[in-house]
Amino acid sequence: RFIAPENLVRWHEHLLKARLDGVTQSRETSLKRQDGSTCYVSLESLYLKSPTDRRGENNGGSVIRVAVVDITTRKLAEENLRQSELRLNRAELIAGTGYWEIDLSTKKVTASGGARTIYGVEDQELTLNDIQNFPLPEYKSRLDEALLRLIRDGKPYDVEFKMKRANDDQVIDIHSISHHDTEKNSVFGTIHDITNIRHAEESHRLLVRAMEQAAEGIVITDAAGVIQYVNPAEENITGYNSDELIGRKPSIFKSNKQDQKFYKDIWNTINAGNVWSGRFINRRKDGTEYHEDNSISPVYNRTGNLTNFVAVKHDVTKQIEIQEQLFQAQKMEAIGTLAGGFAHDFNNKLQVIAGYVELILFNKDLPETLISELDQINQTVVSCTELIKGMMVFSRKTPVGLQPIAINKIVEQTRSMLTRSIPKMIEIELLLADDIWSINAVSNQIDQILTNLAINARDAMPDGGKLTMKTQNITLDEEYCSIDPVAKPGRYVLIEVSDTGTGMDKETVSHIFEPFFTTKEAGKGTGLGLAVVYGIVEQHGARIICDSAPYVGTTFRLYFPAIEEVHEEEYFENKKPPRGQGETLLLVDDEPNLVVIVSRQLVGANYRVIKASNGNEALSLYEEHREEIRLVILDLLMPGMSGK
Ligand code: ADP
Ligand code: MG
Repeated sequence: RFIAPENLVRWHEHLLKARLDGVTQSRETSLKRQDGSTCYVSLESLYLKSPTDRRGENNGGSVIRVAVVDITTRKLAEENLRQSELRLNRAELIAGTGYWEIDLSTKKVTASGGARTIYGVEDQELTLNDIQNFPLPEYKSRLDEALLRLIRDGKPYDVEFKMKRANDDQVIDIHSISHHDTEKNSVFGTIHDITNIRHAEESHRLLVRAMEQAAEGIVITDAAGVIQYVNPAEENITGYNSDELIGRKPSIFKSNKQDQKFYKDIWNTINAGNVWSGRFINRRKDGTEYHEDNSISPVYNRTGNLTNFVAVKHDVTKQIEIQEQLFQAQKMEAIGTLAGGFAHDFNNKLQVIAGYVELILFNKDLPETLISELDQINQTVVSCTELIKGMMVFSRKTPVGLQPIAINKIVEQTRSMLTRSIPKMIEIELLLADDIWSINAVSNQIDQILTNLAINARDAMPDGGKLTMKTQNITLDEEYCSIDPVAKPGRYVLIEVSDTGTGMDKETVSHIFEPFFTTKEAGKGTGLGLAVVYGIVEQHGARIICDSAPYVGTTFRLYFPAIEEVHEEEYFENKKPPRGQGETLLLVDDEPNLVVIVSRQLVGANYRVIKASNGNEALSLYEEHREEIRLVILDLLMPGMSGK
């Protein structure tokens, strides 16, 4: 009744065995209790053949005595143990870890399921030797040493190495910690497969290296905008080191060039989970401003929460400077064209006025009053011509009459002229390089440049100061020119004119070379001084750069291309107006008045003049008079066919 039907066979077998063998080994099975629960039992039986009585008579019937021992408690404990081993094994597999133990006297190794999985071995026997052969060769000696030390000093070891797994030849990373059990004379420990962790670490390291070496500035903040990381490029750009930035907010870079709304817009954009890109003006640690292109992105964690912001920044200060330089150059070119065209036409008209005045003055019987009035006209024309000349110089593009000159001499000459127009309270200092190279130039134009610059310096130092003129040889190499795109590599003579005057702000500097730009009160300045300087510099294929700071002073640097040889130069030529010997000239100009006047003057100087008012007429007249014409005087700018 207590034996479950499926166990019946077992019971019968057991009893049969007892009968055959006389006594049985213990055998485990189970019984059903009355209350339905299971009772584990162990059976042990003894077969007694029909016992004989004193007379040796068999009373019939043999007996099997069965001892039934309740082993339920032990059975359950065993089951628990099995379950907990199973759990341990599972945990090891999931965690990629295992346990091993080496009996040092037998060199036998006990390895847990997890350890065997990592080693890649089934349940074959393992010895110390096997274990020592798992690591890749380059790690072996180190590990053996660690084991020796562990046994000798009893100090636990903690090592990392690579090994090839036995069953699939895969190379894996292992972290192992082991201890010494002196009582059992064994060594035991754990191994942990850290291949995935290593890979993650490596890609993390790669990421960090890339950020550290990126040319762009990178800033990472938390969701509240507190800086967590800046890369070295950002340190370079801002002048702060990362310790000074971590824990601060990016507002540390704020310049007052953007208003509150600008920053609010950024926050609104990125807090809404969008990327903000744009250009900022920020402030470095030293207070200077810089422009940067900035793109700020929100960073989300795995669960989709916004945890960080990352800003990638590119310093575009240099680029903007270059753009501004190019813009300046283009502006000057446009103004030059405008001024040149205007000056040319206006000059023609002035010459017409001057010419007629001259013609009228030829008249011997003019009343005195008229003569003095005509003189007034003449003086006005002369002063207008001065203005116009300035504009013409400013706009002229082609160099005329360049000669090799020694610049130091001209500086010295200019200085001696200047002492007349510059008051004593301004000290003039010359710093002239001894072996200065020569330049190709028109000497009185260089003189003009120096004079104009010096006069401006004087005006900037009403209370006195120091004016310095300096010459110096300078070689611009490829490297320098790569950061200054307007410069070309080569040898230059640098002329520097600097003063300790009022200086100028940036805005003013950007206009100084424009004709008629002046900050001086009416009547004091024409605004042509620097326009003329600029024009001359351009004609010489040279370059001028102005550096100025309010209340500090101003420096003009002029770079003239140097030439090889030096020739003695001639400055002043004394020319008398030439007289002709009746030669025939062809005069071409589209301004009829000018043709009249110039031809009268030429006739007065003993020439014959053939007149043409445009290119086509000039060509056909030339065909006709080819033999007689000795010289052609052409207006360069004419409608239709130009002089050229
Ligand atoms: P002008 O002297 O007739 O005003 P310029 O073309 O010579 O005309 O100069 C233009 C302007 O540039 C000046 O009005 C002045 O504002 C500024 N400037 C030129 N040189 C200097 C200087 N050395 N220091 C300060 N400002 C200067
Ligand atoms: Mg001036």
